[in-house]
Amino acid sequence: MLKLALGSAAALASPALAQTVKPRTRIVFLGTKGGPRVGIGASNFANVVMVYDTPFVIDCGNGVSRQLVAAGVPIPSVKYIFISHHHSDHNLEYGNLFYNAWVSGLSTPIQSFGPKGIEAMTKTYWELNKFDVETRIEDEGRPDPRKLLIARDITEDGVVLQTPDVKVTAFRTPHPPITDNFAYKFETPDGTIVFSSDTNYNPKLAEFAKGADVLVHECLYLPAVDRLVIKTKNGATLKKHLLASHTTTEDVGRIAAAAGVKVLVLSHFVQLDRGREKEFYRPDHCRQGPDATGTAGVRSAVSRRVGKGALCAVPTIPKIWTVWWARYALPTLRLSLSTRSQYA
Ligand SMILES: [Zn+2]
Ligand SMILES: [Zn+2]
Repeated sequence: MLKLALGSAAALASPALAQTVKPRTRIVFLGTKGGPRVGIGASNFANVVMVYDTPFVIDCGNGVSRQLVAAGVPIPSVKYIFISHHHSDHNLEYGNLFYNAWVSGLSTPIQSFGPKGIEAMTKTYWELNKFDVETRIEDEGRPDPRKLLIARDITEDGVVLQTPDVKVTAFRTPHPPITDNFAYKFETPDGTIVFSSDTNYNPKLAEFAKGADVLVHECLYLPAVDRLVIKTKNGATLKKHLLASHTTTEDVGRIAAAAGVKVLVLSHFVQLDRGREKEFYRPDHCRQGPDATGTAGVRSAVSRRVGKGALCAVPTIPKIWTVWWARYALPTLRLSLSTRSQYA
């Protein structure tokens, strides 16, 4: 496998250079917000990994279609959709993403994968939209979309997809009360990328992500949770749920350190307080405390704010890697992965 490089410090210091090199494998963070609420800031949770221009969508929070368009990814070019679990902030726009691909001219099948229920959800989607779909087939001469979406329930850990370029492996991780919940590992020609899904602190995830080039991990920032609880009617119950089913930033650091990942990307921010983004995203919130060996701790990130933030990344290697922040309300971040030679 080629050694993966996340744009070197020199390349990052020269945006013009970075823009002229088209990376072969890219992750685009389409939405970094956790939870189902819709806001005017970060979009709901969704990601896309592009390998040789083939999009692999990971989770379909509300807004995923629009965010793909905003990121310059033609919706009908989507080939694969992965749903981590059936919380609505991960699947609400699953059917509609496919629908939007169809009305934009989709002619080749899309394969979707997810925990038990995605096959049923797909069937139900066609019932829900029967009138429109059948009208458009007849009236506008479109192909029957029901034949173009091939859904598959994942019931156990293991390889769920193998293309000539990419191997995708699913790994069950607890997200109480949900147990049908999968992290995904993408082994690409340019390196390995792991998405944690929503999960409670699960040291086994570190084994699954061992040596990954990029780990995209959900996180829970406790002070933000406390602020949320005060404002919410069902605050006490909500806090109990959040603590039981998510991973604190400190624990995310432990996972990343144990896995020895090259880059940790924090995402799925549960509570975004307007005006407090700076505090919430301060990279040192994910710094691990002193550890037994004194070497495995996640290093504090060197970050550079270029707009309203929606992403925090912490390098675990002794090399300065600069965070690219989202600009304004559009939380489309491009973490371009490229081979070392391209950025040398
Ligand atoms: Zn979620
Ligand atoms: Zn969830």
